[in-house]
Amino acid sequence: MLKDYVSRIQDADMVLVGIGPELSAHKLVDFKKEITNEHYQKLLEMNDGDDNVRWMRQVYERFHLLNLVQVPYFKVLEEALCQKNYFVITSNDDGLIFQSGLEKGRLAAPCGSGDFFQCEEPCSEQLYPAKLGLEDLICHYENTGEIERLECPKCGKPLIFNIRTEDTKSTYIEGAYLNSWAAYTKWLQGTLNKKLFILELGEGFNVPSLFRWPFEKMAFYNEKAYMVRVNRTLYQIGEELKGKAESVKMDSRDFLGIER
Ligand SMILES: [Zn+2]
Repeated sequence: MLKDYVSRIQDADMVLVGIGPELSAHKLVDFKKEITNEHYQKLLEMNDGDDNVRWMRQVYERFHLLNLVQVPYFKVLEEALCQKNYFVITSNDDGLIFQSGLEKGRLAAPCGSGDFFQCEEPCSEQLYPAKLGLEDLICHYENTGEIERLECPKCGKPLIFNIRTEDTKSTYIEGAYLNSWAAYTKWLQGTLNKKLFILELGEGFNVPSLFRWPFEKMAFYNEKAYMVRVNRTLYQIGEELKGKAESVKMDSRDFLGIER
């Protein structure tokens, strides 16, 4: 568990953390329990195969996520990183780390956070704040029973969430995270020859080029780096990292002591 590595973290000059799908909202947030709204509860009983039903559930769930304040999930991590020079990157698109006690300037979510919509096409780079749109969709649904989509004000195509998925990777607009990405790359430049502790939590292989592979590379090339990979199933580490990294075969939720 994380407490077994606290002395390593204390000992490090810099701490780099990657957060993957084992710690996504899908795994951490019990929507069925938390969203007590009767309309949403009814949607849960409806047919999964219906696109509209799935969309409308997502609308409620995303709205719920955007309205969370101070989620408890990363508490243990926050305590361990407190006073440290750290950076946290995530491949999740749920915005959860931004609702934690971690410092906003030390976070990057290159796959999106749920804060924005974009044109499906896209016809322009324009991003639209999601919260208001979601509120409109929910009001309309609860008043009329109709499931609507939002339209791009420029071309009339549907607006979709500004998140990077298998389906949207070629159309994903990257504008929203570029500032945090610049902060991240600058921070990384400072890790050269520093005692760097790398902690990879529950990352899979959806976007391995985001941090799974780069972390391995850093652990390999930085002589003072040490990496810990936590994963229930994808915990393996290559021979070339022997002595520079270790794997913990454990669900990241358990590693962080998250109750479930
Ligand atoms: Zn458009």
